[in-house]
Amino acid sequence: MKLDQITVRQIKGVSAQKEQELHAFGVHTVADLLDYFPFRYEDYRIRGLAETKDGEKVTVQGKIMGAPVMQRYGRAKSRLTCKVVVDGVLVTAVWFNRHFLQEQLVPGREVVLTGKWEQRRLQLTVSDSEFPDKGTAKTGTLQPVYSVGGSLTQPWMRKTMKQAITQFGSLIEEMLPVELIDKHRLMPRSEAIMRIHQPDDTAAGQGARRRLVYEELFLFQLKLQAYRSLNRSRKDGVAIVVDPEIIRSFVRTLPFELTDSQKKVVNEILADMRQPSCMNRLLQGDVGSGKTVVAAIALLAAVKGGHQGALMVPTEILADQHMRSLQKLFEPVGLQVALLTGSMTERKRRDVLAGLQMGLIDIIVGTHAIIQDGVVFRSLGLVVTDEQHRFGVNQRSILRRKGMSPDVLTMTATPIPRTLAITAFGDMDVSTLRERPHGRKPIKTYWVKHGMLDRVLGFIRREVDAGRQAYFICPLIEESDKLDVQNAIDLHIQMGQAFPDMPIGLLHGRLGAAEKDEVMRAFSDNEIKVLVATTVVEVGVDVPNATLMIIMDAERFGLSQLHQLRGRVGRAEHQSYCVLIADPKSEIGRERMKVMTETDDGFEVSRRDLDLRGPGDFFGTKQSGVPEFRLADMAADFAVLEEARDDAADLTTRPEFWSDAIYARLRQRLQSDQLFQGELLD
Ligand code: ADP
Ligand code: MG
Repeated sequence: MKLDQITVRQIKGVSAQKEQELHAFGVHTVADLLDYFPFRYEDYRIRGLAETKDGEKVTVQGKIMGAPVMQRYGRAKSRLTCKVVVDGVLVTAVWFNRHFLQEQLVPGREVVLTGKWEQRRLQLTVSDSEFPDKGTAKTGTLQPVYSVGGSLTQPWMRKTMKQAITQFGSLIEEMLPVELIDKHRLMPRSEAIMRIHQPDDTAAGQGARRRLVYEELFLFQLKLQAYRSLNRSRKDGVAIVVDPEIIRSFVRTLPFELTDSQKKVVNEILADMRQPSCMNRLLQGDVGSGKTVVAAIALLAAVKGGHQGALMVPTEILADQHMRSLQKLFEPVGLQVALLTGSMTERKRRDVLAGLQMGLIDIIVGTHAIIQDGVVFRSLGLVVTDEQHRFGVNQRSILRRKGMSPDVLTMTATPIPRTLAITAFGDMDVSTLRERPHGRKPIKTYWVKHGMLDRVLGFIRREVDAGRQAYFICPLIEESDKLDVQNAIDLHIQMGQAFPDMPIGLLHGRLGAAEKDEVMRAFSDNEIKVLVATTVVEVGVDVPNATLMIIMDAERFGLSQLHQLRGRVGRAEHQSYCVLIADPKSEIGRERMKVMTETDDGFEVSRRDLDLRGPGDFFGTKQSGVPEFRLADMAADFAVLEEARDDAADLTTRPEFWSDAIYARLRQRLQSDQLFQGELLD
């Protein structure tokens, strides 16, 4: 029998009702129960009072010295006191609402007391007491504390766990390969499970935790690394071979020289594309570091290698912008670029679809609609996603079902702290743009109070008079698109009154696609001087002449969002500024403003964002790929995470992992994971 096939009902003492309640905690089988780890321990080991600080919880042993005194308050309430000698000190022990103990407190009797120590009054407020002449179950132990509720009490959970171990402990199977157990000197799984629930001492508890944390991180990394290795060994991708001279001569047509960083990542990407397996690469680079041109070069390579390319973006505004800039870039080399968005007319859409199918269109730019059903490519060689969180397993399998396995390049401007990179993106190869193009000045960021709006208006005037442009971002009101829009409209009117002579634009999500396009075009062409907008301009928008970003009620935005918004300026050689208007009430709000004024380095911003928010929240959604670990703590156990990653990467690249019987159990685990969608790994 296997533990994951034995229901908790089989444990002595678990009734049908208790079983139901356990289900609410996600515990169905004995295996689930044994994996239900305590989140801390209560310490019942005896200590001396001399080492105990005032206010600390302690367990002591002593002798009762006098008759107990009881005071009753009403029916149920009582206060029982008794003198006890502990380590030669006369201590007052106090129990609340434990009147039934009165007759057991016999002078001369030994007693073990656990409670809170008050040094000044030499008083111990007792929460737990045991008498050595009647046996002491808890004394001297560490008692696990589980998260419990309903009729599942702490003592019931402890008892049931003990019972489960007694009944089924012998069935606990090892999960890790012996070489890794030896390498890290880990406890066997069965021992670790027993000890994490019933540690003899702290060292045993820690050893058990170390083993189980490693296991958890290893199994998680194994999944990512196996996926990566399988992906690499599968030669069903397209090998894209281009004459380097074609790339070089294209790069010469650019209006600027590539930075060293850009050259390096272009080489990494082209090397991947040359392989017959599918590229799965993440390109991370701070806002304004020049990712678009890198994508353009990769797309050019795909087309010159005889295939088509797709550029996927999160918004239509961005699709439109990329469409225009790619058309401009590819004009000299004669590539056909087309746009595919949800708001296109049916007729236009049909034309584009036909063009893609026949191979008349080389590069398609659009929202995720471009890989949906009904879209057929002649030969899709490369998908680039810009500013999307990730190109998921689902999207990949949509393509595979259509018989395509293109290379995939995922670009993000949210630099990912190392901890998250190896969890959320552990299945990808990572390229990083470390520098911004030459001649960029750091963006000066100021935090001002609402009362200083007049000075902010003066700032706008100054920049516009100098030939520059400004964004004014409106407060974001959560889950209320309507109010956002109203805010933007109000602010637009206010700006119009403040600057009657100045062309002021308005951009928000409720505008039609054509209107949005027109506003963006006018702002790009410097016809509009100030653009009042909601967060529709958050990502990707590139108007290099804009130098001033003003964010109203900035405390309502998260750090990475603020950094993204700020990244709309500082995109050329002009000195740029970001003004945050905020009166944050919360500590975290003030902290965010401080981070923004202290650094304009995206890596630093996201590191501090991670500190403020914690990993679970970092990407904002559960689907982010950041798992919630049961035991491991990504910050504290980071070194283990790295080891586990290396071990998993090493193991999955060895052929015997995919064939040897000793790894069969691990392979089975992988197969049941949705990442592999039931692929046969044996
Ligand atoms: P992001 O990484 O935020 O997507 P973009 O690709 O939009 O950044 O580039 C920001 C701006 O910098 C664009 O106007 C782009 O033309 C320009 N740019 C990109 N690479 C260079 C370079 N090597 N030298 C000068 N300007 C560059
Ligand atoms: Mg971009």
